Amino acid sequence: MEEIIVLGTGNAQAIKVFNTCFALRKDKEYFLVDAGGGNGILNALDKNQIPLENIHHIFVSHEHTDHILGIPWMIRMIGAKMNQGNYDGNLYLYCHEELISTIKTIVTLTVQKKFYQHFNERILFVPLKDGDTKDILGSRFTFFDIKSNKAKQFGFTVTLTDEKLQNTNPFNNNQNKLTFTGDEPYREGIYEYVQGTCLLQREFIYSR
Ligand SMILES: [Zn+2]
Repeated sequence: MEEIIVLGTGNAQAIKVFNTCFALRKDKEYFLVDAGGGNGILNALDKNQIPLENIHHIFVSHEHTDHILGIPWMIRMIGAKMNQGNYDGNLYLYCHEELISTIKTIVTLTVQKKFYQHFNERILFVPLKDGDTKDILGSRFTFFDIKSNKAKQFGFTVTLTDEKLQNTNPFNNNQNKLTFTGDEPYREGIYEYVQGTCLLQREFIYSR
């Protein structure tokens, strides 16, 4: 991964800033992490010059409104591009198993079928279990359950390969790990995943 692009920094009650979500870039491709609470995701991507055609991988951490409700918009817009022949390949959505039915329910209730007709053909859900590893955009991600007591939530850890990002490692311990722990504080139970992290990212608490 070569760049981290912060798309939003707000919690669920933020009004003046978009909800927390970000993208990781590798060459021209992006890995989107959560989608905020609505169609503000489209504006945030546009402002950061991230074309929808270059997003083929999206991770959804959990079911709360401020993380999931941008997803129907992403499916709506990418489904339209697929219909127009303006989107190459498949869209992969990574999330824990229970979240798949939640997303499918929200989308099928709120989006026209012609946009989600690609479910299970070109819009593919990738169910995640605690500790699963996936190779995405040339990096190995390990996804883990953050042990939330509110709603089941997953985070991930990934080793950075880019020199510029590696230089941000204050410990100089050659681990070069970026870890995302969702919108909750660190818990003891996730130490095995978080240890050696140089960049720990979790939800900001800016709420104005
Ligand atoms: Zn939450």
